[in-house]
Amino acid sequence: MTDKSQQFASDNYSGICPEAWAAMEKANHGHDRAYGDDQWTERAAEYFRNLFETDCEVFFAFNGTAANSLALASLCQSYHSVICSETAHVETDECGAPEFFSNGSKLLTAPSVNGKLTPQSIREVALKRQDIHYPKPRVVTLTQATEVGTVYRPDELKAISATCKELGLNLHMDGARFTNACAFLGCSPAELTWKAGVDVLCFGGTKNGMAVGEAILFFNRQLAEDFDYRCKQAGQLASKMRFLSAPWVGLLEDGAWLRHGRHANHCAQLLAALVSDLPGVELMFPVEANGVFLQMPEAAIEALRAKGWRFYTFIGSGGARFMCSWDTEEERVRELAADIRSIITA
Ligand SMILES: *Cc1c(COP(=O)(O)O)cnc(C)c1O
Repeated sequence: MTDKSQQFASDNYSGICPEAWAAMEKANHGHDRAYGDDQWTERAAEYFRNLFETDCEVFFAFNGTAANSLALASLCQSYHSVICSETAHVETDECGAPEFFSNGSKLLTAPSVNGKLTPQSIREVALKRQDIHYPKPRVVTLTQATEVGTVYRPDELKAISATCKELGLNLHMDGARFTNACAFLGCSPAELTWKAGVDVLCFGGTKNGMAVGEAILFFNRQLAEDFDYRCKQAGQLASKMRFLSAPWVGLLEDGAWLRHGRHANHCAQLLAALVSDLPGVELMFPVEANGVFLQMPEAAIEALRAKGWRFYTFIGSGGARFMCSWDTEEERVRELAADIRSIITA
């Protein structure tokens, strides 16, 4: 593909944001200590502790699959199971990595409404069987914002964590799009995590404007025991760690993380507003983060592809998914909406 026009297939089609890029550049002077023993890594961890208003343990991994898998592995034994939504990235898009890195902990899927788990769906799966022949439920993982572009409210999170407490389950959050959730709700990161009972958060950097990298935050510090060894064994300990941590300093030091999330959300709202009145086009889910899911006639989807637009139809639950990112141009959103309109009304 030589055409560099902005596309809406995924928020990871975007490049590196200026803040992350500038921090990488600044980190690229002279020599520094390796394996996370450097100033940048220390600063990034400190920024996270300030942002989350708590003394959490902070680790860095190259991508979300590794972050999720290793975090989940640290929350259970191999004979335990992990409850997730049937649409969860860990279930549908990580090639069995959570099971692999946990040496066999089984994912148990629960039905979800608009991509969200509920206390009831968790309870049903957790209590379905309690005999020795069934993998014992030990963890719940939820995705914030969800794979279908919806957002858990603090009350929903608190209700889920109360259920987890009652049933003896640890709570993990896949925050590949955590910034979009914060931006939508106007809540502090603390309110959406440890104050709502989340034990561990995987905070996505890639989809927020970094080249690579996710942070893993343990609010329950006991669960972080030996996590550094787990990362190393899994090939996730960067020797030149400063280039994984410096971009976080760039994103966190002046609030770029939230600006980018807001901008992407705003573009998704714009797209939804421009096409949702069209006959035959349905919004499949409430637009709360940076994704818009449209149910459209198959012929319209093909016509849109023929015009050169790239988008996924297999993520979430069918339909066409359009993701906006930190650098999405409003003009490009309007072009996409105009093409959808002309195809539908042709
Ligand atoms: C993108 C994404 C991830 C991370 O995926 P990687 O490709 O492994 O970085 C994790 N969870 C969700 C919900 C995602 O959308």
